[in-house]
Amino acid sequence: TVFQNHSLNECVLKVISLIESEATSSGHEIHFHEAAYGVHMLMDQDKMIQLLLNMMKNACEAMEANGSIHMKLSRDQKNATLIIADNGPGIPSDQLDKIFHPFFTTKETGTGLGLSICYKIVQDHHGTLEVESELGIGTRFILTFPLAAAVP
Ligand code: ADP
Ligand code: MG
Repeated sequence: TVFQNHSLNECVLKVISLIESEATSSGHEIHFHEAAYGVHMLMDQDKMIQLLLNMMKNACEAMEANGSIHMKLSRDQKNATLIIADNGPGIPSDQLDKIFHPFFTTKETGTGLGLSICYKIVQDHHGTLEVESELGIGTRFILTFPLAAAVP
């Protein structure tokens, strides 16, 4: 795999363009809050796009029609933080520790592989991946990654 300095902002925009027609055909809205521009990190760009696309697909699949996904990208001196939040049904608390396991799925035709692959990709980028969910309110995934170079 090739790790190169890329903009996370551009990755998010790329993923939004890839999922947009699927999302809008279900009436979903995607909002991107760029709290920071030019958030650069060392990444395998194809893997990063795969990771974000998986999470966006899950959000789209979880929501009834006319849902909304909010992505927020921010940074501090050392880390980038990307939040992917949906207003879908949420995840029961007894499933929260299982969703990253391979083959765990609640979908009739799901593979259950998406989030386990996401977890691996985050680890390969020395990042962290957390989930918070409230039934009937929605789910948010919180990703952090070290920046390419710390700001002095
Ligand atoms: P799959 O999408 O094939 O089911 P994943 O590994 O991508 O496999 O996801 C595992 C499970 O985690 C899903 O079946 C679903 O129950 C739950 N899940 C993931 N993302 C969300 C979300 N945004 N909202 C609600 N449930 C989710
Ligand atoms: Mg999935």
